[in-house]
Amino acid sequence: MEPFSLKHILDSTFDGINQSLDTYSPKVIPKEIGIVTTLSTGIVKVSGLPGVGFEELLKFPGDLYGIAFNVDEDEIGVVLLGEYWHLHAGDEVERTGRVMDVPVGDALIGRVINPLGKPLDGKEAMVFEKHLPIERPSPAIVDREPVTVPLQTGIKVVDALIPVGRGQRELIMGDRQTGKTSVAIDAIINQHDQNVLCIYCSIGQRAASVAKVIADLRERGAMDYTIVVVTEGNDAPGLNFIAPYAATSIAEYFMEKGRDVLIVYDDLTHHARAYREISLLLRRPPGREAFPGDIFYIHSRLLERSTHLRKGLGGGSLTALPIVETEAQNISAYIPTNLISITDGQIYLSPTLFELGVLPAVDVGKSVSRVGGKAQRPAYRSVTGALKLAYSQFEELETFAKFGTRLDEHTRKIIEHGRRIRACLKQPASEPVTLSEQIVVLLALTNGLFDPIPLSKMKEAEMVLRKIATELPEEMRQGFATPSAFAESTRQTILQLAEKALEPFNVKI
Ligand code: ATP
Ligand code: MG
Repeated sequence: MEPFSLKHILDSTFDGINQSLDTYSPKVIPKEIGIVTTLSTGIVKVSGLPGVGFEELLKFPGDLYGIAFNVDEDEIGVVLLGEYWHLHAGDEVERTGRVMDVPVGDALIGRVINPLGKPLDGKEAMVFEKHLPIERPSPAIVDREPVTVPLQTGIKVVDALIPVGRGQRELIMGDRQTGKTSVAIDAIINQHDQNVLCIYCSIGQRAASVAKVIADLRERGAMDYTIVVVTEGNDAPGLNFIAPYAATSIAEYFMEKGRDVLIVYDDLTHHARAYREISLLLRRPPGREAFPGDIFYIHSRLLERSTHLRKGLGGGSLTALPIVETEAQNISAYIPTNLISITDGQIYLSPTLFELGVLPAVDVGKSVSRVGGKAQRPAYRSVTGALKLAYSQFEELETFAKFGTRLDEHTRKIIEHGRRIRACLKQPASEPVTLSEQIVVLLALTNGLFDPIPLSKMKEAEMVLRKIATELPEEMRQGFATPSAFAESTRQTILQLAEKALEPFNVKI
């Protein structure tokens, strides 16, 4: 054999590797133990763990864990993930060598848990298939597909004017008590026949509000396909901080199995505050509104994980409805503007409309959906096309009409039509409207069939039309939900039926 042939070189290399493997013995890393030096609200400083990694999980006495947040040369700042009243300076801290993870699996469906996977509903403990880290990289661009399938929320004003698609991120924003949670809960309730798994992640809210939401979900049968991840206002700030990441990892587990998932973060204002608290206690430099400099990054890396995966990866999707609270209707505050720029649109709830009784209080002018229209079903899109324009024309003219000016016939008609649109888009909480019912009602609305009906009779007239929708032939109703076009004959049939049904309500002028 030639001494310098390729085979000769490779053989000698493999021999070398084999010899090293024979003599290899794994290095046993001794257990690293540190000591708690100081203790403050939800934070401890630890010394004596030189090898610790950033965001490594550390074990404290009493089944308490913490995350290494600040890794300095001689001291580590640790965020605690639970009750820490039993901790004292001098206690031992142990390295775990792993990052924070959350148990995932089908057993979670229908359960109420905390971000560590511990049940809070008093039911039996769960058996899990596996654990996933709470922080995971978001899917690459090539692994994503355009958003094409609608996520029907069952809320007429949202589906018609600010449609949301599966895989989209739509921010729900508004002042306190404007119905933000209600919009998200209605969207969850409406998924009962849509094969969408839902996750409601409640961050730092009062226990009573969370209990009410869970009771509502139970009452409407929505817990059969929903997971609730809860941290309360008085939980450790670290727990509040990790909650949305843990919930997202649970959602991703199902998305990667090809499921469509809807996740609600209620709300990210509390999340940002928890992070601010942690950062200030760790003495990180405060920036605008005392939030740390990376506050944008903590929300963007969370919301980037929502997507529609390509077919090769199962075709699952993760739709996010983050909620943010505004103060005194200031949508240009720091956290709301950050979130507006991260998400693909926002639903703005106005306290003024809420007071006027226009519920849900969606301010159509300030709300937008940057992808949704493309995801609407063709049948649905064809009945809502003219709605937004007619509504915004009305909103503009309505202000003039308030001065009692005499209006020409054309303007009067626009205003009367607009009033019918507003009345038609009103809807009580927890009563989602199905796709076919919405199509029939909105088709009648855009064709002006409601215009001769007095406003006081609108509710009744709408109910009559919704009944017609339920009586339409099964195949026609199924056709609405497919990506095929809306047949002209179907349109005419519905219009004729609607016209006939609305006749008794008409007031001849
Ligand atoms: P918070 O700021 O406290 O979280 P929120 O903005 O989430 O409040 P909700 O709790 O959803 O608001 O709703 C506030 C109140 O308004 C509730 O009592 C709810 O029942 C009522 N409400 C919300 N939407 C509607 C609706 N469409 N019709 C009737 N009442 C509604
Ligand atoms: Mg709320």
